This record gives sequence, structure tokens and C-alpha cells, in this order.
Amino acid sequence: MKSAILILSGPSGAGKSSIISAAADKIGDFYFSISSTSRQPREGEVDGRDYHFVDKEEFERGIESGDFLEYAVVHGNYYGTSLKLVREALDAGRLVIFDIDVQGYHLAKAKMGDLITSAFILPPSLSELEYRLKARATDRDDVISKRVENAKKEIKEIGAYDFVIVNDDLDRAAGEFVAVANAARLKLSNKERELFVKNWLSS
Ligand code: 5GP
Repeated sequence: MKSAILILSGPSGAGKSSIISAAADKIGDFYFSISSTSRQPREGEVDGRDYHFVDKEEFERGIESGDFLEYAVVHGNYYGTSLKLVREALDAGRLVIFDIDVQGYHLAKAKMGDLITSAFILPPSLSELEYRLKARATDRDDVISKRVENAKKEIKEIGAYDFVIVNDDLDRAAGEFVAVANAARLKLSNKERELFVKNWLSS
């Protein structure tokens, strides 16, 4: 299968990981890019599975060494995507899925735009987002308020994304996600397009 990059953004609480889990056996071989972050693990989160949890200094050393495809400060903490692992997955022909914020999306797009398909995922309403974040009970009230304010800002960037998925019903949202993943695989990069034309003309 052809490799591709699929970038997902949207507020924490949108249900991005539940959608990916629900669609996992229908989207072919994929690699979910595990980001590095300087934020503290939440209860139940596992280092190397949910994130690579590092301290601020280690993250800043990574920035200096050019380890990140993109990074951003979100809610006061660093988050970033390791370039090496993404390259390896792309070389292996896998669909690489990122869950990154809007700033990171713009940075990744500037570097690898022709390889990227994107989707913004969100709950059906602002009040539902607040409800889900409170029900999750993993963050303090001030952290929840920060996330809600950030979501209000991020939603204004929705026009920069190829697709929007509203997660009001998990099965339906997962079905839409499968369609988006298939579209990502069908998209040709500039290099692939040139090669296609060359081969087609000489065949
Ligand atoms: P959380 O703290 O809820 O896990 O994530 C907070 C935000 O950080 C989410 O909007 C998520 O998309 C974003 N995020 C997670 N990993 C990365 C990353 O590697 N790069 C960027 N730019 N944002 C990220």
C-alpha cells in the first residue's frame, strides 16, 4: 500500500483516539505517531504508548538537534513529532497518522504539504466539549477552561483542513474516518505524480 500522512486536529475531548481505535482494522497498515511532550502524564497514561514524556530541558535539546518535524507549545507545554520515526514509517509504505494541534499542522504542511491530508475532528457542540472534559475528570478546572478557550480559537482554523468529522456518533464518525484515510492513500505527492506521468507516457 502507498504511504501517506494524515493529520488530525481538534480539541482534546473530541474523541480522536476512540475514532482511530474503532477504525483501526479498516484502514490498512498504519503508524500512529507518538508525540513527545513535556506535560505531566495523566492518570492511566503510559510512557511510550500515549506520549514520550520528557522534561522541558530534554525537549529543548531535541529542538536544538533538529529532531522534530514540528513542535509547538500547547496549553503551556511542549508537544512535538519526531522526524526519524515518521520517515521510517513512510519508507515502509505505512499511513502515518498524527494527532497534533493547529500550529503544528501549519508547520508540517509548510514542510511536507503535498504528502498531507488533514481532518479536523470535534464534538457536536461547545457545551458537549465542556461536558466531556469534565466527565473525563482527569484535568483540573483551570486546565479544562484553558482547553475550552483553545478549542474556541482552533475552530476558526477549520477552513485550513481538507475534511471535518463531527463525533456525535462513534460508529458514524469512524466510518467517515475510514473514508478520509482511504482518500489520504489515494492522494499523490508531487514526486509520485511526476513518476506516474513519466511511466504513463513511456508505456
Ligand atoms: P493533550 O494534552 O490533551 O494530550 O493534547 C493537547 C493538544 O496537543 C491536542 O490538541 C493535541 O492535538 C496536541 N498535540 C499532541 N501531540 C502534538 C504534537 O506532536 N505536536 C503538536 N503541535 N501538537 C500536539
